Parts: sequence; structure tokens; C-alpha cells
Amino acid sequence: MTPVYDLAVIGGGVMGLFTAYYGATPGKKVVILERSRVGDPQTASFGLTRSIRNDYLDPLYAKLAFAARQLWLELQAQTPERFLIECGCLNLAKADITPALEDTYAEQSHQVLTGLHLRTQSFTRQGLQSRYPQFDADLGRLDVEAGVLYLPVITQTLLAALHSHGVTIEERTIVETITPHGREVRIQTNLGERRARSLVVAAGIGTNAVLDRIDGCALQFPILQDRPSQTKYFIPPDNQRDLFVAGTLPVFAYLDVGVYGHPILEGRTPGVKIGYYNPPDVQRIKTRIASVEAFVEECMPALRGARSVDVKEVDQCSYDLISDDNFILGLLPGFQNIAVGVGWRGTGYKFAPLIGRTLAELALKGRSEHAINRFSPARFVSADVG
Ligand SMILES: Cc1cc2nc3c(=O)[nH]c(=O)nc-3n(C[C@H](O)[C@H](O)[C@H](O)COP(=O)(O)OP(=O)(O)OC[C@H]3O[C@@H](n4cnc5c(N)ncnc54)[C@H](O)[C@@H]3O)c2cc1C
Repeated sequence: MTPVYDLAVIGGGVMGLFTAYYGATPGKKVVILERSRVGDPQTASFGLTRSIRNDYLDPLYAKLAFAARQLWLELQAQTPERFLIECGCLNLAKADITPALEDTYAEQSHQVLTGLHLRTQSFTRQGLQSRYPQFDADLGRLDVEAGVLYLPVITQTLLAALHSHGVTIEERTIVETITPHGREVRIQTNLGERRARSLVVAAGIGTNAVLDRIDGCALQFPILQDRPSQTKYFIPPDNQRDLFVAGTLPVFAYLDVGVYGHPILEGRTPGVKIGYYNPPDVQRIKTRIASVEAFVEECMPALRGARSVDVKEVDQCSYDLISDDNFILGLLPGFQNIAVGVGWRGTGYKFAPLIGRTLAELALKGRSEHAINRFSPARFVSADVG
């Protein structure tokens, strides 16, 4: 006799794992159905590092990031191995690259953080030189309660917690059809039928294919896949390595020119990770910085001459962008017990505990305590292809 699960989750990325983590309260039976395997390096959630920061231009995202941070701290408190490295996130600007310093991402996001009473610090050129001599810039704004997450330990921690909460994880499971049946959802898979009282779709860039399998659902989301044009590790010589480890070096970004970077996590990552990415929908400022190498040359002189290698084994998945640049998070229109979350725009990892908790609440209780109206999947109903 097949069990009736309280919650089935399609997708075993970080969003699916956190959904199961929060859904598996005492007495609740939860199953994760994953088409490949948890930890598949081809999926978005599996790499070495992700930045965790609050410095968004939109106060709603800044607030949600800070709320998610509290949940990361709670999880961190349960495990002896540190996965949240609080080195801050430094936003930079240089006047001969982006002359209107007051309009830069660094300054604008600093204003947002200040308005929300989140901790931030300002640096002039001189201030930067004494605190962060790695950089050559005219302005620095530090998001203090920020840093970097180390993913392998997070995955391990979540899998151990799911195991102890009795969550079933079925890998290499192909979902064939999903049929609402009274108060249940029946999921036909290559391994047989799975029955659940509620369902969460957390399938990343595979989300539309899953929606296509749901009887009575004609909705498809405008998901666009994109990826950074470059991501490299810069490996400084041994005698300079200390300058670039987390703590000495923060997470850093010059988002006006599409650059972001992570410090070395000693024994965990080989070098300073620097990425170059300009979202397709954002008007690009023409500057001299059109590559990670140009950024190093202009703004990070301490790394000039360091050996660099492409980031290859990890981070091979795409970002899931949405046409209106907002998350999709809510109940699937027309279904009271099916919730969906996607469209994290290359920035979702830091929000994952909050998103997972919200998806579990939506599916199990039909509501969430968070103000998520802006993210409603229903906003795409008029664009329904069906
Ligand atoms: C290169 C890169 C760098 C990033 N950097 C940052 C960063 O610094 N900070 C940050 O906060 N965020 C960052 N992100 C974003 C963040 O990593 C993602 O938003 C997040 O991992 C998405 O998680 P997910 O669970 O939705 O997707 P995924 O990890 O892709 O998980 C989806 C899962 O669903 C499974 N699946 C798909 N279809 C089906 C199906 N039909 N049946 C069963 N299972 C299915 C897939 O196999 C996969 O395991 C980055 C993303 C990338 C790609």
C-alpha cells in the first residue's frame, strides 16, 4: 500500500531541500522527487560558494535577505562545521569608471540599507586604502552582515537533518503525470505512483516541464536562462595569500560594471573567485571594464600577475531569470495545495531557507506569513499559453 505523504516536493536543489526541511514537522511525512541526484553539479545549487548579502536596491529584497539570514544563523547554530563566513560585502566604485559616484550601486544600496537600519560602513579612497589595501577605488560601502556561504557543508547539514526527520528522498525519479484527485495529488513516476496531500514544485529551470505534467494546468512562466560570461579563480602567490582570505578580504562587487567576487576560503576554494555578468535586461554602461581581467587591472592591483583559471567543475548551471525580474513564489493558480517557486535570477541561494519555509507553509496551510503578493504566480495567468 503506497503511503500518502503530507507533502511531496519536486526538485532536490536548495529550494526543495529547505522546503522539505521546514515541511517535515513532527508527524508530517515528506518525500522529495529528484530527476537526477541531490548534489548534481549541473544544477544551480551545487558549487562551492554563494554570496549572502542584504544590499539590494529594492527594499523588499533587502528585507527578505535579512530575514533569510536569521534562518541561516539558526541552521548554523545546529552544526559544528561553519558554512556561513561573515566577512561582509564591499560594494566599490571608481570615479574614472563610473563618474557619478552618487548614482552607483554601492551608494544607492547603502542608502537602502541605511533606510532599513541595517549595518553598513562607508569608506573614502583613504579609508579603503587603510582597511582594504587590495582595492584601488574611490568609494566603498560595506554591507556588514553579509559574507559567503560554503555549499558542501550546507548540503551535508540539510541531508543529515532530512534523514533524521524521516524525509524520503527518491533520486532518478521521472515525473510522468500529476493528477489532482479530491484532496490529494497523484504523481505517476517511472518508479510507480506517489500520493500526497500537497505538492511543491521547486524544479528550477525544469519548472515549466513539470507544470506541463499537471492535469488542468496550462500555465507556463517566462523563464529565461542566462549565465555569467566569465568566472575565474585568481590564485595569488603563497606569500600574498593572507591578503585574500575571508576575513581579510570581504565579498566584493562593482555591480555597475557587472563584477562580483568571493575571497579564498582556506582549504576549501583554490583562489579569489571573480565573475563578470551583465543581465540581458539591464542597460549596460560602457566602461573600460569588460572582463574580470580588466577589473583586476583597474581596481584590484594586488591581484595583478596572479595565475587565473576558469571555474569549471562547479557553477555550470544557468540563472533562471523572469521577464519582470521578480521571484515567482505562491500557490499555483487554480490549485489550493500546489505551490511553486522559481525565477531566482542568479541570486536565490541566500534566500533559500525563507523560500523553503514559505513554500512549505503555502502547500501545507494554503497561506504564508510573509508579504509575497508581488511574487504571485497569478501575474502570468493572462500570458497563459493554454
Ligand atoms: C553560477 C551561479 C552562481 C550563483 N551565485 C549566487 C550567489 O552568489 N548568491 C546567491 O544567493 N545565489 C546565487 N546563485 C543562485 C542560486 O544558486 C540559485 O538561485 C539556487 O541554487 C536555485 O535553487 P533551486 O533549488 O531553485 O534550483 P536547482 O538547484 O537547479 O534545483 C532544481 C532541482 O530540480 C530538479 N528537477 C528539475 N526538473 C525536475 C523534474 N521534472 N523532476 C524532478 N526533479 C527535477 C533538478 O534536477 C534540480 O536538482 C547562483 C547561481 C548560479 C547558477
